[in-house]
Amino acid sequence: MPTFVRTEKCDGCKGQDKTACMYICPHDLMKLDKDGSETGHAMKAYNQEPEQCWECYSCVKICPQQAIECRAYADIVPMGGSVQPLRGSDSIMWTIKFRDGRMKRFKFPIRTTPEGSIEPYKKGYKADLSKIGMAGFHTSNCEAPKKGDPSQLICK
Ligand code: SF4
Ligand code: SF4
Repeated sequence: MPTFVRTEKCDGCKGQDKTACMYICPHDLMKLDKDGSETGHAMKAYNQEPEQCWECYSCVKICPQQAIECRAYADIVPMGGSVQPLRGSDSIMWTIKFRDGRMKRFKFPIRTTPEGSIEPYKKGYKADLSKIGMAGFHTSNCEAPKKGDPSQLICK
């Protein structure tokens, strides 16, 4: 089930070229309707292809206005309920609203290192462009993956 934008909360990321939800969506689904010609709501974002949304929650988490919500599957979150994150620098506060009005909140840590401190290319992997057509191109120079140990299998 897709995300949707609460237009009364969305501020269009204050008119920046690319809004936070547009930047983060791995499927390029979010779009800012600058002049309102597409939705009737100028400077509000919307999910332009809801059937393509895989509910990854990235846009929900990044929206600085908490304007995006996700319609979860009814067997997980029944109508009237909601699951809403509030992202911090090291944790996310989840607010669970039940359809009978009860609310529960819990904080979940999301990282152990300071934001922006990770250097993904620190080990100096260098891409070999002659292998660009090969599967696993980027990681082909990385350490070999750990070999599986069949004795650790639970099902046989
Ligand atoms: S990130 Fe939030 S506030 Fe910014 S454009 Fe998207 S829905 Fe609106
Ligand atoms: S939930 Fe994920 S796939 Fe769906 S619009 Fe948001 S960022 Fe894109």
